[in-house]
Amino acid sequence: MRRTACLLLSMVVVFCALSLFANRAHAFTGTHAKMKVRIPWVDATSMKELQALTTLDVMKWTPGEDLILVSNEDQLAHIESFGFTTEVLVADMEEHYASQREATRNFGDYYSYSEMIIHIDQLHFMYPDIIGEKFSIGTTHEGNTIWALKVSDNWELEEADEPEVLFDALHHAREPITVNVLVETLYHIGANYGTDPEVTFLVDNRQTYFVPVVNPDGYLYNETTYPGGGGMWRKNRRDNEGSSCYGVDPNRNYPYMWDNGGISYDPCNDLYLGPTPASEPCVQAMINLMTAHEFIVHDSYHSVVGVILMPWGYDSDIACPDDELFREFGAAMSGDSGYPVGPAGEMINYDCSGNTTDWAYGEQMLKNKIYSYCTEVDGSSFWPNDSEIPGLVAENIPKNLYLMRGAGVFLSLIDLVVSGGNGDDKPDPGETVDLTITLRNDAIITDAENVILTVSSQDAYVQMIGAQASAGSVPARGTAGNGDDPLSFSVDAACPAGHVIELTFDVSADGFALTFSRSFVVGDLPVVFSDDMEAGVNDWTHEVGSSGYSDEWHLSDQRNHTGGGASSWKFGSTGSADYTDMADGVLITPRITLGSYTQLRFWHWMDAEVSSYYQGQAYDGGIIEMAINDAPWVQIIPDGGYTHVVRPSSQPFEGGTPIYSGQFDWTLGMVTLEGVMGDAQFRFRFGSDGNTGGEGWYIDDVSVVGLTSSNQAPTAPVLVSPEDGETVLSPVPALVVQNATDPDPGDELTYGFRVYADELMTVPVASVTGVTEGTNTTTWSVDPPLADGTYFWQAFADDGTERSLCMATASFTTSGGLDVADNEWGGSLAFRGISPNPSHGASMLKFILGSPGKVEARIFDLQGRTVRQITKTLPAGAQGIHWDGRDQAGQMVSGGMYMFRLTTGQADVKGRILLVR
Ligand SMILES: [Zn+2]
Repeated sequence: MRRTACLLLSMVVVFCALSLFANRAHAFTGTHAKMKVRIPWVDATSMKELQALTTLDVMKWTPGEDLILVSNEDQLAHIESFGFTTEVLVADMEEHYASQREATRNFGDYYSYSEMIIHIDQLHFMYPDIIGEKFSIGTTHEGNTIWALKVSDNWELEEADEPEVLFDALHHAREPITVNVLVETLYHIGANYGTDPEVTFLVDNRQTYFVPVVNPDGYLYNETTYPGGGGMWRKNRRDNEGSSCYGVDPNRNYPYMWDNGGISYDPCNDLYLGPTPASEPCVQAMINLMTAHEFIVHDSYHSVVGVILMPWGYDSDIACPDDELFREFGAAMSGDSGYPVGPAGEMINYDCSGNTTDWAYGEQMLKNKIYSYCTEVDGSSFWPNDSEIPGLVAENIPKNLYLMRGAGVFLSLIDLVVSGGNGDDKPDPGETVDLTITLRNDAIITDAENVILTVSSQDAYVQMIGAQASAGSVPARGTAGNGDDPLSFSVDAACPAGHVIELTFDVSADGFALTFSRSFVVGDLPVVFSDDMEAGVNDWTHEVGSSGYSDEWHLSDQRNHTGGGASSWKFGSTGSADYTDMADGVLITPRITLGSYTQLRFWHWMDAEVSSYYQGQAYDGGIIEMAINDAPWVQIIPDGGYTHVVRPSSQPFEGGTPIYSGQFDWTLGMVTLEGVMGDAQFRFRFGSDGNTGGEGWYIDDVSVVGLTSSNQAPTAPVLVSPEDGETVLSPVPALVVQNATDPDPGDELTYGFRVYADELMTVPVASVTGVTEGTNTTTWSVDPPLADGTYFWQAFADDGTERSLCMATASFTTSGGLDVADNEWGGSLAFRGISPNPSHGASMLKFILGSPGKVEARIFDLQGRTVRQITKTLPAGAQGIHWDGRDQAGQMVSGGMYMFRLTTGQADVKGRILLVR
């Protein structure tokens, strides 16, 4: 796919010629037809030389590759006179686009100004709770309104604790894709609010403003001249005094470093900077909006370069003070779009002063500093075919959500390590394991404070031991975890190997709360298929993936993963030789019968062509597909995802397809499939486009492990009584559940019940298994009897092979129950620690009580004064006393060090609690 340097000779001539000329920019009036022009093979140096000749209107440029620009006859002649080779791709862009779009009306699938208004009204009508009514931020030269709208949970209120975000589009009238990106982002937010946890959080905890059309006059002008689309008008429609030409470039009219290069003084030029800084009403409207708010982050949308620009635009030689942060955050935001990040001077050798982003970031007297980007949406032209729109929109929506994350604290669970037990990094039946979690804070500047992790599970084989831990603070753009304070849980010895546990992690911090879930397989899964490729082809087959392409799969002794072995499957030519162009070959496993849970495991080695310019994008590579019960092949996604996505318009895969590519040594790949049952085949599919190869893809040591049992677990029982939160006047309350159902005919169900002293379900008080099923409902009277207090309980069903999930946790309070005489203190007491420690307000003092009876907990300040005294009558066993961080009068005590003493008469334990507020 890389273009060859076929024009080296002509460029040598150019360099010689250029050195003779003065460095003076030439202005061109732009009144001629706009041409799309290609100048082949332009590196950074020759780009500088070209810029010295004339003001360039760049559409596409990658250093060392073709420069595509908008030009005209005069300018082209000027460029050519300096020895540059040029090629006119489109002689009249407007006529060309318009003819392509002849049958189209109202800009086709692009949202015209009036359609944009209809859509934002519609969005407010569809999602009135989260998408606000449109409001005017100003009026243009021609009296058109510049509309804005706000997205937030209480959009009619200014919520000072919710960081603010700004998106705008269409400063330039010929960049309609930018309007679609914003409108479709709004639809995405509306449709996913309440179901997608990230979108829901970002709506509830951010105030996000959208200005979908900054320059309605220019946009309406294009609609007048080319109603189907294709108009190339860029500027607004100022009636310039003393000139017959209209328009100012709004993205050269912002007051910060106005008139500092990359502009034109000619009112007829597309880069005309305007008579005075902020002379344009649309620029004033944006300035007023930005000074009226405290935007943390901003993205100003343009097209069509396919890059993310950052300050400074006015001078590529000056790094802005936050250069490193802009680059790092921008690269993370870019994600699968693959848009590279940098200042305009660096990305397109194109200084531009007076632009939006420089002002948003640089102006710090009238408002705070805004971390402001300018996304140049990719695409084949200013008016890409309608069919390109969905792809271009899709690659920018995750980017927008990431920018919204960055405005404030946003924690993601990025790593989870299981340790302890027998040391095999996974929980086995009967084991107790620790969990250490790493969190990343996506905020651009806000540190996450008071980070607390709480783990829970509805799994009936799991017992929480350490359910809450502190991760302290997580710096902006950094990571931290609970390494010093592991969470832990145990797995019941009765848990079948291969059982999948789902744990729920509640992550909270100041201004942040979000829930993540993660699954673990207990024990070792039975192997249902395995082949180390040492005994020949066996039942594997391979063939062409799609007609017209080549299949190069073969058994190779070039590379091998198997210990003591010699061979593997290779896609590529024999020996170490590269794979061919235009390849598409599939390597197919034998048929394998899958149960309710399956892992496909394979070792692979890769050398395939990626884009050196678009990070994370590839031209060639491999994917995995599956066919179940003879249904068509579908791509399946490995755990942790593929390494790249396919560049648009590569073959044989569609642009945007996730794919393995690049170079890596032998690596274990794994695909986990839940609930996919039946006769399956997997295939490894390698494809390449028409240019440039690599050694290829090797596959070795393929296995499929999984549950083969067809037993299905019963449903969870449902609470009947006591009602959640009810007070029960008995020390032995009857716990009643609605019977579960079991999908397998003939299985008899029994029930288990568990009662805990704490809401985190770490202090068990009473439990039972094997309770016989009753008619419609099943009942257990708690044994041993309970002291007065509040308890939390769960129940589950068991079909003899597997347990159901637990009933949703419920609580009850016993009162006037167990009668314990004053002198009946508890016996021995073994202290088991404080959870969480440090405490953030509420904490549990945990201990094992030798015999039932009273336990007193007393909290002292450092002067020895009693802050709180709590006495509880508790059964023997693992117990806890909960201190809510309040004094005897119910007031919250201030943060700091406190002492505690636990007393049973026989035992006396002292210690410290650090309370962090
Ligand atoms: Zn633009």
